[in-house]
Amino acid sequence: MNTDPLLIVVSGPGGVGKSTVVKLLVERYPELWLSRSWTTRERRPGESRDAYVYVSRDDFEARIVADGFLEHAEFLGNYYGTPTLDESAERDVILEIDVQGARQVLQKEPDAVLIFLEAPSRDDQLQRLRRRGDPEEKVAQRVNKAEQEASAGRELGAQTIVNHDIDDTVEQMWNVIEKARAAQGRTGL
Ligand code: 5GP
Repeated sequence: MNTDPLLIVVSGPGGVGKSTVVKLLVERYPELWLSRSWTTRERRPGESRDAYVYVSRDDFEARIVADGFLEHAEFLGNYYGTPTLDESAERDVILEIDVQGARQVLQKEPDAVLIFLEAPSRDDQLQRLRRRGDPEEKVAQRVNKAEQEASAGRELGAQTIVNHDIDDTVEQMWNVIEKARAAQGRTGL
C-alpha cells in the first residue's frame, strides 16, 4: 500500500478559472492541500495577498541556487516556482502551475496526476482575463499561449476537463484524483 501523498498538477491557460476551481476543490475536500507558489510577478489589483509569495528576482534566484524549488519556470517574463515540499505531509498536494512546471514534476514524480483545464471558448477566456484587470497586451499574450499550452498538456498525457461549470469541474477533478489513488493502490482518503 502506497501511503505517500499524491501530487496533483493542475495546468491550463490563464483565464480558464484555474484558481477559482482549485480553491473550491480544496475547500470541499480538506484531504487536499494547495501548495503556495513563489512569483516575481507584481500582485494584480484586487488579488489576494496570499495568492502567491511575492518576491524580488534576487530572492527567487537565491532560492534556485539553494535548491529550494520542486520546479520553477519563467512565464511571460516572470519567475514562478513551487517551494520544495515537506515529504512528511499527510495530505495529497495540489500544484497549480504551468505546463513547463508540470513537465518537471512528472520527470521527478512519474506517479503525479496531471489535469489540464480548458476554457469553454476563446471568448470566455478573453472575458475572464479582461475582468481580472490584466493589461490588454498581457491578455493577447495569454490567449496566444493557450493553444501551445494545450498541446503540451496533451503530450504530457494530461486529463483534460473543459471548465463549463465550476461545481461540475470540481467533481470531475475529484473523480480523476480518486481513480488515480485507486489505480496506484493508495490508502483511501
Ligand atoms: P498568473 O500570472 O496568471 O497567476 O500565472 C501565470 C502562469 O503561471 C499560470 O499558468 C499559473 O498556473 C503558472 N504558475 C503559478 N504558479 C506556478 C509555479 O509555482 N510554477 C510554475 N511552473 N507555474 C506556475
